[in-house]
Amino acid sequence: MNLPPAVWFLLARLGGVVLLGALVGALLGSLIGGIALALAAALGWQLMNLFWLDGWLRDRANRSPPDVSGVWGDVVSQVVRLHRRKRFHKQRLLELFRELRRSTAAMPDGVIILNAQWEIVWFNRTAGRLLGLRRRVDDGMALTNLIREPSLARYLQQGEFAEPHVLARGEPRVHLSFQVVPYGREQRLMLVRDVSRQVALESMRKDFVANASHELRSPLTVVTGYVETLLQDDALDPALRAPLTEMQRQTQRMNGIVSDLLDLSRLDANEREVQGEPIDVVALCAVLRKDILARASHPEVQLDMASDAKLLGDPAEVLSAFSNLADNAAKYTPHTGRVRLRWSIDADGSARFEVEDTGPGIAPEHLPRLTERFYRVDEGRSRDAGGSGLGLAIVKHVLQHHGAALDVQSTPGVGSRFSCVFPSRRVIGGARGENLPPAIRTA
Ligand code: ADP
Repeated sequence: MNLPPAVWFLLARLGGVVLLGALVGALLGSLIGGIALALAAALGWQLMNLFWLDGWLRDRANRSPPDVSGVWGDVVSQVVRLHRRKRFHKQRLLELFRELRRSTAAMPDGVIILNAQWEIVWFNRTAGRLLGLRRRVDDGMALTNLIREPSLARYLQQGEFAEPHVLARGEPRVHLSFQVVPYGREQRLMLVRDVSRQVALESMRKDFVANASHELRSPLTVVTGYVETLLQDDALDPALRAPLTEMQRQTQRMNGIVSDLLDLSRLDANEREVQGEPIDVVALCAVLRKDILARASHPEVQLDMASDAKLLGDPAEVLSAFSNLADNAAKYTPHTGRVRLRWSIDADGSARFEVEDTGPGIAPEHLPRLTERFYRVDEGRSRDAGGSGLGLAIVKHVLQHHGAALDVQSTPGVGSRFSCVFPSRRVIGGARGENLPPAIRTA
């Protein structure tokens, strides 16, 4: 049998005691009595050891371990070893925790630990200062009871924490950014930052662009006027006609850039979702088609109206976004190509406006950057086509105002498809697909 040496020792000692008891019993004339007495003495000894051990375990902090041998000695040393190891780990954990608390407390950002009910478990000094939280008084309170801002409550409720939520609070106005980092089981870490400086800089940037664009408008109008008057003059020196025509082309381009910049500034100034009014997209697509066909060298234009549903939105903004997409398709598609405008409702009820072309297409590496201001895939091609590089940035902003998303599919050499997907709450009525009269389907 594979028993520990201490157990063998105990059994041997018990055997020795029983033998001694039997010997003494035999000498005194009662073998059984001798053995029974020896066994009782051995049992008493074990009980005494057990009693010592129990007493020590109950009051381990104040007593030194009992001095026992054999199996009991083994048990005592095992307990002592386990206890030391536990104490060592506890100490290390405690030091780590203190370290963590000290470093989090010293962080320049506010940190709040929240439970599943959004109640405050702990917060650092910066969070206390930024939000006016009081230690012990506000511990355990629901965050939304302390910061009574409906937009913050909505942000916490919707559970989408990829982007921080920025709030303006107090007097003088301070802009605070709240970012939730979920961790563990329903625990949340909230980072609170003072972003007033960034917000002020961003607002200065917006104001500068808006003012600069506005100021450029008047001199541009004067130059455009003079160039047009000169070009209409029959006595114009023929040598000047070509440079003046180029000047006219460039001033038109500048006018386009300035007006796009002003549009973007207006869109930038308001980040809230617009309510708007019902827009007849079928009629709008017919207008877009006419505009493309009015270009000097235009591709073939097809309409595919799979629904006559109306879109709830801002008419001027939606017209600007859709015409930017249609204009791009017309600009970049050769006159031998084809452009298709499609309006349809998806299975989930969302609405889709698509502009598809058989133009040059866009390489995949450019797709994520297309909506950046002044981003051009091919500088020369865009300039020749009279592009400002701002069209898709305007589309992105308009779609943001409508809770919609832009999806771009493109294959170089084959063509592109730009889709604006609007949420179902923006769709009003309308027959769908095959129920539409053919006159509407292809207008
Ligand atoms: P631009 O005024 O230069 O057209 P946009 O912001 O509208 O600026 O578009 C950004 C860039 O995306 C364009 O410069 C062009 O290179 C590319 N692009 C946009 N639409 C198309 C399209 N339909 N086909 C090919 N390239 C396109």
